[in-house]
Amino acid sequence: MNNNKYKILLVEDESNIRNLVSTMLEASEYRVITATTCKEAETMFASHMPDLIILDLGLPDKNGLELLNYVRNESLTPIIILSARTDEHDKVEALDMGANDYITKPFGSAELLARVRSALRNNRHCSEEGKLPGGKFILGDMVIDYDARQIFIGGNEIKLTQTEYNIVALLSEYSGKMMTYSAIIKTIWGYPDEGSIKKLQVNMANIRKKFGIKPGDKSYIINELGVGYRMNSDKN
Ligand code: CA
Repeated sequence: MNNNKYKILLVEDESNIRNLVSTMLEASEYRVITATTCKEAETMFASHMPDLIILDLGLPDKNGLELLNYVRNESLTPIIILSARTDEHDKVEALDMGANDYITKPFGSAELLARVRSALRNNRHCSEEGKLPGGKFILGDMVIDYDARQIFIGGNEIKLTQTEYNIVALLSEYSGKMMTYSAIIKTIWGYPDEGSIKKLQVNMANIRKKFGIKPGDKSYIINELGVGYRMNSDKN
């Protein structure tokens, strides 16, 4: 696969992490440009129009969330948050502000590259086909037929309730993007209440059971505890 056309803006003030991530990306033939502050990143974003931004939240001049806000006012350029922070609140806030995904330090090359591919693919899906999916979604041996509202795994139909189907269809529509609990709840039920997260978790447990997903199994739908769910967009 030739990634040469993709330009990635890496915003990170720690030089050893910046060098490590640059090396990982360049080894996969991505073009990498770097910035070490929010201010510098704004300039780089405006002049280079990168295809993807990898953004550290703890920057010397401002919080990375401010850059996220700035970029989202201008474009849908996919953004992956790079953070050493374990604070769930920051991740959730970044995702609700429009970040596509996040990756927690330390991480390996394979994980980083998988997130990058997902985010770039997710962006293509949005720009070419719009937000409302039509036709079919295929992931590994799972097929979603949006018109018939049916889901098949290995050719066998998985019988879901309307709500369960709506959740899976929503995650597939944004495959590759980490969806926070509140974003899913707002879309599926329209309003949040005290029992919303529990209700979502119960539905998700039923979906996993019907899909035959065992705990710890990484296929199809990934749960980040305290954050949300992401449908894989990698074939594996
Ligand atoms: Ca930092």
